[in-house]
Amino acid sequence: MPCVRVSTPTGNAIVCMSRPRFKACSCGSGRRADLLCDWKVEGGTCDAKICTACTHVPAEHKDLCPTHAAEWDRRQAERASR
Ligand SMILES: [Zn+2]
Ligand SMILES: [Zn+2]
Repeated sequence: MPCVRVSTPTGNAIVCMSRPRFKACSCGSGRRADLLCDWKVEGGTCDAKICTACTHVPAEHKDLCPTHAAEWDRRQAERASR
């Protein structure tokens, strides 16, 4: 796909049409949601789109959405209390 030049208030920018549309994270940070939740669910992983601001990293190269980060914390607390 071609790249097009667009004018912005701060100058010209090149926009490549093959780039995926910017997808801001639903957490409201305005960051791009380019991480996926790695929480295991039936048939795969949660795959919720999350950004670097709201991810939770329980282990290297793992990301959890806020919902599953809470679930993770709950399980860790449960394990610790045993
Ligand atoms: Zn986010
Ligand atoms: Zn998740």
